[in-house]
Amino acid sequence: MTSGADVLVVGGGVVGCALARELAGRGARVALAERGQIGGEASGAAAGLLTPQAESMTRGRLFDAGLASRALYPGWIGSLEDETGAEVGYRKTGALVCALTEEEERRLESCLAWQREALLPVETYEGRAIPAALRRHVSPRVRRALFFPDEAFVHCPRLMAALARSLDLRGVRVHVGSTVVQLRVEAGRCRGAGTPAGPLEADAVVDAAGAWAGLLGGLPWDLPVRPVRGQIVALRTEDPPPAVVQSEEVYLVPRSDGKLLAGATVEEAGFRKEVTADGVAGLLAGALRLSPGLGGAAFDGAWAGLRPGSPDGLPMLGESGLPGLWLAAGHFRSGVLLAPWTARALADRMAGAPVPDLAPFSPDRFALASAAGAERDRVGTNDRGEPPV
Ligand SMILES: Cc1cc2nc3c(=O)[nH]c(=O)nc-3n(C[C@H](O)[C@H](O)[C@H](O)COP(=O)(O)OP(=O)(O)OC[C@H]3O[C@@H](n4cnc5c(N)ncnc54)[C@H](O)[C@@H]3O)c2cc1C
Repeated sequence: MTSGADVLVVGGGVVGCALARELAGRGARVALAERGQIGGEASGAAAGLLTPQAESMTRGRLFDAGLASRALYPGWIGSLEDETGAEVGYRKTGALVCALTEEEERRLESCLAWQREALLPVETYEGRAIPAALRRHVSPRVRRALFFPDEAFVHCPRLMAALARSLDLRGVRVHVGSTVVQLRVEAGRCRGAGTPAGPLEADAVVDAAGAWAGLLGGLPWDLPVRPVRGQIVALRTEDPPPAVVQSEEVYLVPRSDGKLLAGATVEEAGFRKEVTADGVAGLLAGALRLSPGLGGAAFDGAWAGLRPGSPDGLPMLGESGLPGLWLAAGHFRSGVLLAPWTARALADRMAGAPVPDLAPFSPDRFALASAAGAERDRVGTNDRGEPPV
């Protein structure tokens, strides 16, 4: 098996597929290797929230990237739907964030303050003044709420199916069921990857293997990506809320297929992608505290996925230090939101353009720490860099 591509993308999640699509759209010959199925891991399991404002209690680099990516979404989805004929369930409903306790209310106040200062659209309501169409979906115990009118969500399984179709239409050679075991390095440059079925040759490789990104053989340093489990419960109700509704405990997403998603847990459980009794019980309890009217909703299943976590919660985007090897990893809780922005910024960077917005996400911040650790191990120093006594 060989592909002779310009770029080989490892991983068929939303990050790998969005990047492969972008590169192919710019005329590159692209191959993609996916161990299982396209969208079979975190990207298919995600709730699909595109809600940077509702999720950010402070302003930061991730928030700015999230806002930029949310702005790209309508055009990105429009072109994907036109190209594939698919409907991917993108809905700009807005999001209502509710405070049920005094402490939560204080946190909402500070969130409101900086978002107003940044001139971002946000409405604020005392509990009793929440517009009736939303108020009847939340507990009378809600003290205060913020409504972010520009927030949206997407139906992730449909998005992933449309991306897969688009890759086909754009001539990307997709190898499903193909596990990359080892990166191929020739004369100090990454030139493809080895799979059990044979080598895949390419001039450049992108590691977009999600929670498994740090496990590829031949990486130049220890990539600190770890799995962070998330569980979601799906409910069915005749009367779902008309927008995303959330508290600090849980979010409720009225997905376009009629499921109301209640998510999500955030758990350190290694690579165990299980739905647990505690996980389901906690989500249901949180959902009922926020929206007591859901007591009669039908239980419609539950699932789990493994988010690609990084030590500082930010993705690693850019060159790896090994020429020819690029990283698009560690998107943690925001990979679906950040996909169009990541694809565009990284494709620009790979074409040689300077992309200042990528600087905060440079993998160098971990490569240097990893090299220092390796050097300490070599000369036998401790964590503070002191030699052993
Ligand atoms: C319950 C839950 C809810 C979430 N909700 C949201 C949300 O509302 N909004 C949001 O923006 N984000 C959300 N996320 C986070 C989001 O799902 C991730 O950030 C995103 O999916 C990461 O995409 P990815 O392509 O990096 O990883 P993945 O989707 O995991 O894709 C990586 C792919 O690489 C493949 N792979 C791994 N190793 C190899 C190998 N050696 N060879 C070949 N292929 C390999 C895997 O099989 C996998 O398909 C949620 C996640 C979970 C679990």
